[in-house]
Amino acid sequence: MKILIAASEAAPIIKLGGLGDVVGSLPKALEKLGVNVAVVIPYFPTAVVAGLKVYKSLDLLVPFNGESHKVGVYATKLPRSFVDVFLLKNDDFFSTVGKTASLGIRSEVEVFSFFARAVVELIKTKFNTYDLVHCNDWHTGLIAQLLQDELGLERPATVMTIHNFSYQGIGDARTINEVGLDPSVHQMVAWDIADGDVNMLMQGIASADFVTTVSPTYAKELLASTDEGKIFDVLCARKDRFIGILNGIDYDAFPRPLDIMTYQVAKESAKQSLLTKLNMTKDDAPIFSMISRLDPNQKGLDILIDAIPEIVSRRGRFILLGSGNVEWEEKFKALSVKYSSTNISINTVFDPELAKQIYTASDFFVIPSKFEPCGLTQMISMWYGAVPVAHSVGGLRDTIAHGKTGFLFDDYSAGALVRALDRCFAIYKSQVHSDMIEACLKVNFSFDKSALAYKALYEKAIQLRQDAFVAED
Ligand code: ADP
Repeated sequence: MKILIAASEAAPIIKLGGLGDVVGSLPKALEKLGVNVAVVIPYFPTAVVAGLKVYKSLDLLVPFNGESHKVGVYATKLPRSFVDVFLLKNDDFFSTVGKTASLGIRSEVEVFSFFARAVVELIKTKFNTYDLVHCNDWHTGLIAQLLQDELGLERPATVMTIHNFSYQGIGDARTINEVGLDPSVHQMVAWDIADGDVNMLMQGIASADFVTTVSPTYAKELLASTDEGKIFDVLCARKDRFIGILNGIDYDAFPRPLDIMTYQVAKESAKQSLLTKLNMTKDDAPIFSMISRLDPNQKGLDILIDAIPEIVSRRGRFILLGSGNVEWEEKFKALSVKYSSTNISINTVFDPELAKQIYTASDFFVIPSKFEPCGLTQMISMWYGAVPVAHSVGGLRDTIAHGKTGFLFDDYSAGALVRALDRCFAIYKSQVHSDMIEACLKVNFSFDKSALAYKALYEKAIQLRQDAFVAED
C-alpha cells in the first residue's frame, strides 16, 4: 500500500497548529504498521529544515492560469523516521503565506489551488504509483477532482480529512478555471461557483472517495448541525462515506521530566521555575493555564475572559500562552494589568518550549472551546499531569473522562466554566487530585490507534477503487 498525504503543514517542518502535529505524527505511526507513506507540503520560507538533509529531487512544470510554472521538488525525511517529505518550492506562490497564514499578494485560495495542481503533477511525474492520496483540510480540497480529471479510471483512491470545518477556503470562482477544472463538465463545481465563490472544502468533501473528521463526536455534531449552507447538504449526502477517527499525539515530540513515580516533586520544581521565569508570585496557589491559538470564534475566549477574575479572587494563578487575534491579545493583557501580572501571566508568542514548561508546571488546563474538532492540548496536558477542564464538545468529549481524567461542562457560559473551575479548587492537592493526575498520566493517546483506523479505511477505499476500475473498464 503506497500512500501520499497532502497538507499545508507537517510538524516539525511547518507547524501552525494541530493540523501540523497530526500530519507530522500520522505517517510515522503508519510506517510502524508497514505502510509505505510519503508527505507533500509547500516549501514556505518559514519551513524549519535546520539539521535535516534536504535534496533537490526534480523540477515540475505546473500549468496554472494559462502559464507553465516551475516547481522545485525537494525531498527530506520526517525526523526520527524514514517517511519521505516532498517540499514543493515556487517563490511566486509559496512565499506569501506560511507561518502566520496571512494574506500576501495572492489569495490563499489561489495559492492552495496552485498547490493542488502541483501535487497532481507530482503524482503524474512519479508514474502514478500511489494507491491512495490522503488530503487534509480545504487547502487540498481540489486534489481529488483534479486527479479524477487528469488520471480518470487509473486515479488513486482519495480520502479527505476535515480537521476544522470552520475553515473552508472560500475564494474567487475564477480559481477554478485557473487550476484547469472545467465547470461545464462538473455539475458540482458549476453549482458551487454559481454564487461567484468556490468553496474548496466542499469540493474536497464532494469528490473524495471517503471523508473523515478528527473525532466521532465532531462527526456527529457536523451531521446534526442546524446551520444552513450548501456544504452541509453535501456532507449529509455523503454521510455513508463519512466517519470520525480520533487523532492521537506523537509522544516522542513531548519529552517529559516526570512520570507516575516522580510527578509530585517534578511538578513542584517545574512550578517554582516557571513562576520565577514569568515573574509571578511564588506560593502554593493552583496554576490554571491555557495554550491556544487566539481564535475568538472557536477557542472560548469570551467565556474565559470573564472567568479569569474568578480564578484570581479564589487565589489561583492563570497563565495564557496564545497568539493570533491582536484585539484579544490586548484584552488579555489589559486584564493582567488590572489584576496584576503576578497573578495573571499573558504570553502572546508562539513558543513550543515555553508551552512544555507550562504543561509541566500547571495543575489544571483550561479548554473552553465553543467547538473543538479533536483538540490536542487536552491530550498533551494529561500527558504532563495537568488536569483538563473543558467544554463538553467534539474531541474533548471523546477524550476526557469526566471526574476521572478531567472536568467537562455542558453549557457554553462563563458561569458553567467557573463552576467547573470550582471543582478544581475543591480537589486541589487532595487524594482525588492525585488520583486524577495519575489517571491522566496513564492514558494513552498515541497515534498508533488512529493509524490502525486510517489503515483500515485506506484498505477499504483502495479495494472500492479497484472494484470500480474493474466495473468501469
Ligand atoms: P488547533 O489545531 O485548533 O490550533 P489543537 O489543540 O488541535 O488546536 O492544537 C494546538 C497545538 O498548538 C498544540 O500542540 C499546542 O500546544 C500548540 N500551540 C498553540 N498555541 C501555541 C503557542 N502560542 N505556543 C506554542 N504552542 C502552541
